[in-house]
Amino acid sequence: MTERTDALQRLRRANEAAVLGELRRSGALSRGELKARVGLSRTTLFAIVSDLLERKAVVEQPAPDPEHPRGRGRPALEIALNARGAELIGIDLQRHRIHVVVANCAHEIVGRYSVPAPPDSGAPERAAQAVAAVEELVRRENISLAPVQGIGLGLPGFVQNPASGDPRNMTPFASHVAAELGRHFDAPVLTDNNSRLAALAEVTWGAARGLDNTVYLGWSQGVGGGLVVNGQLVRGAHGAAGEIGHTSCDPEGKPCHCGGRGCLEGLISLPALLAACADRGVVVEDAEEMIALAAAGRPDVADVFRGAAVTAGRVLAALAAQVDPECIVVCGEPAALDELVLAPIREQLAALSLPTAPRTVEVRGSALSGDAAALGGVALLLRTTGQELAGLLDDRSVPGDATEDGSPLVTGASR
Ligand SMILES: [Zn+2]
Repeated sequence: MTERTDALQRLRRANEAAVLGELRRSGALSRGELKARVGLSRTTLFAIVSDLLERKAVVEQPAPDPEHPRGRGRPALEIALNARGAELIGIDLQRHRIHVVVANCAHEIVGRYSVPAPPDSGAPERAAQAVAAVEELVRRENISLAPVQGIGLGLPGFVQNPASGDPRNMTPFASHVAAELGRHFDAPVLTDNNSRLAALAEVTWGAARGLDNTVYLGWSQGVGGGLVVNGQLVRGAHGAAGEIGHTSCDPEGKPCHCGGRGCLEGLISLPALLAACADRGVVVEDAEEMIALAAAGRPDVADVFRGAAVTAGRVLAALAAQVDPECIVVCGEPAALDELVLAPIREQLAALSLPTAPRTVEVRGSALSGDAAALGGVALLLRTTGQELAGLLDDRSVPGDATEDGSPLVTGASR
């Protein structure tokens, strides 16, 4: 692409964003009103509107005119956002499942879709699976994918190259998937760890909605986390902030895949709890059955979860002393056990968090379902300005060094 076409494309995108933004703020407007408010020339505005109409991002409708009821000449036409049009895409590429969410210009979720995915695919396959999932959603729910303004992409594990302090220096796998998606949808892609995106979704739409200081614990096959401090998602110097699962609880403990020892993940992840049940002579088929038994009040299985919650509570209490959150959100399958796991966490917080300066920290179960991180991808886009997104469009070349087997993804995998 030449520099000139590139610049023209950016200009077109900025003008489009201005028109869509005005329609979002003001509701339906005539072409004349749009022209006056957005400040574009008639030719440019008409070209943009007809392009948006063609792409079904906007619709044309008769203007309501109480002074001139029907039958008196041709009704004036207004341009309005298409309620079935979507311009923001959130994607969570979990190891075994893909979740996609699309939102419209008015920041409303228009559709969501989940599909199982074969694990351990390479970057090109993962990107193709994500594209197919978005296309399936759009087809099923008759959604018109408007010019896509941005894609929020969640991936397990480290997304940023841990050796680099530059947040744009992603792992080869992450940058490859992001570049493929960006190229396919012709849109900027923001990429982050999916536990962190789920944290953002919880403060935007979920259990911690509107709370600016929240700790998120993702408790499932792995253990992940996310921190929202002063309303901002914390990424840290190396893009690894909030890796609660890799807090060492026992320096002499079992080695962890992160390179540490005795990590929280190794103690409370669902596979660790299945092993704990087996140690107690409880035969359970899988995590689902284990949770069902605990929910049914089977004492030895309930004890395993209670003990795990105490361990998690100690780590969260230490974190709460440092971060001073208003709320801790617990997500993942064990959160369905509700007070069985939430109460021990609360007790540890009460016992260990600055006893001389007691503060109220709410402990809540997640209010969102499995697609929280995909929702978080949209939330991340909503918190990013159009200018920042346009800046991301500048580097979208597909790097050639991503491995085919997806191995760079596995470090610190948390979901
Ligand atoms: Zn670890």
